[in-house]
Amino acid sequence: MKEIRNPKVLAEEMSRLHGQGKSIGFVPTMGALHEGHLSLLRAARRENAVVVASIFVNPTQFGPKEDFRRYPRPLAKDRSLLKKAKVDYLFRPSVQAMYPEGFSFFVGMEDRGRRPAMFRILCGKFRPGHFRGVATIVTKLFHLVQPDRVYFGAKDYQQAAIVRQLIRDLHFAVALRILPTVREKGGLAMSSRNRYLSPRDRNRALAISETLFWLRREFRGGRHDLGRLRRAAMRRLHPKVDHLEYLEIVDPVTLQSLRWRKRRMAALTACVVNKTRLIDNVIIHA
Ligand code: AMP
Repeated sequence: MKEIRNPKVLAEEMSRLHGQGKSIGFVPTMGALHEGHLSLLRAARRENAVVVASIFVNPTQFGPKEDFRRYPRPLAKDRSLLKKAKVDYLFRPSVQAMYPEGFSFFVGMEDRGRRPAMFRILCGKFRPGHFRGVATIVTKLFHLVQPDRVYFGAKDYQQAAIVRQLIRDLHFAVALRILPTVREKGGLAMSSRNRYLSPRDRNRALAISETLFWLRREFRGGRHDLGRLRRAAMRRLHPKVDHLEYLEIVDPVTLQSLRWRKRRMAALTACVVNKTRLIDNVIIHA
């Protein structure tokens, strides 16, 4: 595995590989790798001649009171997992290299009529600026890596939906692969932030996936009034977590809240368990 820190050096290397006709699969991450990341890397390995992973804890997607500084950075372990996953290139730029003095362009997303931009709904409401930071770093990484295929996890559902629209609207010639959420045994969605949880917190956090699975079962069992179903799910989850930010049943592509059932829907939630913010979702097929 070749580790590159300099963006220009990476871009030159990628151009060279393209010149040789090699396909490039790209998995962007913030490190602290777990089985969820590894599933993306395995898919990338199957489908591409060259696999590039990045580790970059992107400061512009963290709010001033969020965990940027304490975000886990277990570099030696990450390196060894990436090597095991047969990654060809690790891109690990410094913050200074990605956001040099004077950096001032960001990727924004506008509202469409009365419909608020995907940036501003769901997690966007609770993390102002987050998706602007995500869209900006994803755009920069796509320019540098020039991937043929990129791999994202369904766990970060809104992020994947925004990246889908970013690729479409800004004409990136890249195929988006969204892979299923990998879960721990009890159902908790794997996340680098799970390591902040004490055993007791972890136990409480199980209510998040349990509630989403419950909601899906109820729907399948014939409970089709989405408003009521959503409220019932919130009532179940609310007492189990410290803060329930939202739980919504939405269109799987536009993420607009649904009043009436559709063929495909997504139920998304974000909760706080002892200061750790956790998100999860399930897809529901009517
Ligand atoms: P992160 O390092 O948290 O920025 O995540 C990097 C990529 O891994 C994103 O595309 C995430 O959606 C994906 N990912 C994180 N957790 C999981 C999971 N439990 N299952 C599948 N993909 C995941």
